[in-house]
Amino acid sequence: AKAARKNSYHYYTKALRDQALKRMGLLSDLRTAIDEGQLFIEYQPIVDIQTKSIVKAEALIRWHHPSRGRIAPDEFIGIAEEFGLISEISNWVFAQVCTKVKRWRRHFGQFLQISVNTSPKQYADSDTCITHWLQYLLDTNTPANAIVLEITENLLMEGDDRISEKLFQFRQAGIDIALDDFGTGYSSISYLKKYPTDLIKIDRSFVNSMTEVSNDKVLCEAIIVMAKKLGISVVAEGIETKEQHYILSQMGCDFGQGYLYSRPVDAESFEGLLIAQHRQ
Ligand code: C2E
Ligand code: CA
Ligand code: CA
Ligand code: CA
Repeated sequence: AKAARKNSYHYYTKALRDQALKRMGLLSDLRTAIDEGQLFIEYQPIVDIQTKSIVKAEALIRWHHPSRGRIAPDEFIGIAEEFGLISEISNWVFAQVCTKVKRWRRHFGQFLQISVNTSPKQYADSDTCITHWLQYLLDTNTPANAIVLEITENLLMEGDDRISEKLFQFRQAGIDIALDDFGTGYSSISYLKKYPTDLIKIDRSFVNSMTEVSNDKVLCEAIIVMAKKLGISVVAEGIETKEQHYILSQMGCDFGQGYLYSRPVDAESFEGLLIAQHRQ
């Protein structure tokens, strides 16, 4: 038993070391990824759950690494945050989204909104990229109401008053604020009291188990009812089956996002979806 423990200890440190090395490797590669055009954005449609037509999309970052292939955002966003690269990456995402949403609104209608994920670190310092975004909208003539900023509860947990100040500022400018992964944090409801919120995104874990775990169905419904009373719209994330779609539409959920409607796709394909919808 002792030998086994010693062995597993050895294995553990090696695994940790490998992980650290991998992270350092990714970090140095990430530094050049932006300049060398390895990053790109996919857009995942968000549909009006009653009509199934595309009314929004979420911008999701992608990294095509020259030798490792695709690297998931969960693998590198954390590294970017830790080593101070997140602002540069986020600025890049934001600029891309502004360009695209202007184009798509011009061709397909003024209703379209694109949501951008934001990271805690961006709100923490007083003069990071977030503050410049409003100016960027003005400079590039991008309508603020075309943009939704997604924030997570974990961001708000680090919360101080400067964060809510910024959120109010954005909202005043016309940007919508969406609370992402709703229900997974410790005190989702109290955040609704404290922070301005236009949209709630019900976490995919609830939607996922909705048809098996009856409690999760009840929770989904309760979130929708509560949001309605507060005048907040609801997006259900991770809808994969017709059954989930049907139940959520019966509950009065406003919007749906998930593989049932579409996987995240590149800008060109997303535009194709908009064209097809426009022709109907
Ligand atoms: P998220 O914000 O919760 O994004 C939704 C994730 O769910 C995406 O994963 C999406 O591909 C996935 N998804 C959508 N529909 C379904 C479905 O029906 N089933 C399943 N199983 N999954 C679905 P992705 O693209 O891997 O992104 C992971 C996380 O990385 C995001 O979670 C977000 O927190 C972060 N992220 C992505 N892009 C950015 C970015 O530009 N900036 C920042 N700060 N974070 C980002
Ligand atoms: Ca999100
Ligand atoms: Ca989410
Ligand atoms: Ca997330």
